[in-house]
Amino acid sequence: MEQGSEFDLVDVEGTEIDGDEWDPIDVSETDADRIAKKRDRKFEQFEKRIKDADQFKVEQSVFDDATLAALYKLVQDGHVDAFGGPISTGKEANVYLARGPDDTEVAIKVYRINASNFRQMRDYLEGDPRFEGLGGKKKDVVLAWVKKEFANLKRAKKAGVLVPEPIAVERNVLVMEYIGDDQDGRAKRLGEVSVENPETAYNVLREYMRRLYSAGLIHGDLSEYNVVFYEGQLVVIDLGQAVTVHHPNSYEFLERDCRNVANFFTREGFAVETDDLLEFVTAVSADPSRD
Ligand code: ATP
Ligand code: MN
Repeated sequence: MEQGSEFDLVDVEGTEIDGDEWDPIDVSETDADRIAKKRDRKFEQFEKRIKDADQFKVEQSVFDDATLAALYKLVQDGHVDAFGGPISTGKEANVYLARGPDDTEVAIKVYRINASNFRQMRDYLEGDPRFEGLGGKKKDVVLAWVKKEFANLKRAKKAGVLVPEPIAVERNVLVMEYIGDDQDGRAKRLGEVSVENPETAYNVLREYMRRLYSAGLIHGDLSEYNVVFYEGQLVVIDLGQAVTVHHPNSYEFLERDCRNVANFFTREGFAVETDDLLEFVTAVSADPSRD
């Protein structure tokens, strides 16, 4: 994550979008699927080790063979060195702490293909130029979703929004920068802390929303649950459902995001009108032509 003092907005310079992220996203058979099919001895040993590991016992259902193969591939590729405990167990995805190369810490988000509401996912992929040829197969939709989350994180970061740095994606598993530290654990969500200076925090968040919008993205699930507070800065997380401005409902999603954010800060003692926020965010032009 970029360094900076209290609520420093990240540098606006160097936020040009190359525009390659609207390229079609491929969900054909993954290396993980091939590994799971082939089942060589090394993979079987890895699988047994993971299945016996304490921190995964409760979550056995997440780790079907292909998911284990995805984890195996991530280890082989050097993105993950060791697995840590769970950070969060959600409806559709579980997040784990892990050790990355050179003693870094990474967060691993594992989507459960069977638990995923893929019909809703499909709806969120509508209009997105990156997914034009995507069929309706459940697995393909979930895999596309994970790649979309990765691409959205990259795009958001380029646009100057603090997000976890995306590191790798393999099948239904996303590896990203871990926001947190040994002392306090994962960074707290905005809704879990008492915001000392809501006006400053609001100004940062609305600037982030504006930067996302100008990069052609709308978060789509923005609220105090998907913004964390770390080392004096706000970090936006959970960009899986973020849509491009091409989406037929993108404006509604943006309005809803604005409403959630305005309501939160109003409750925190800094009154914000949804419409004012909406106006601020959309005062810049959304530029999907950067595609
Ligand atoms: P879904 O709705 O699909 O279940 P989710 O809301 O569970 O997704 P996230 O919001 O991405 O998924 O992650 C869940 C929780 O895990 C977050 O609220 C946050 O506390 C923690 N978390 C996620 N990503 C990171 C990260 N990179 N670093 C630290 N903590 C994280
Ligand atoms: Mn979330």
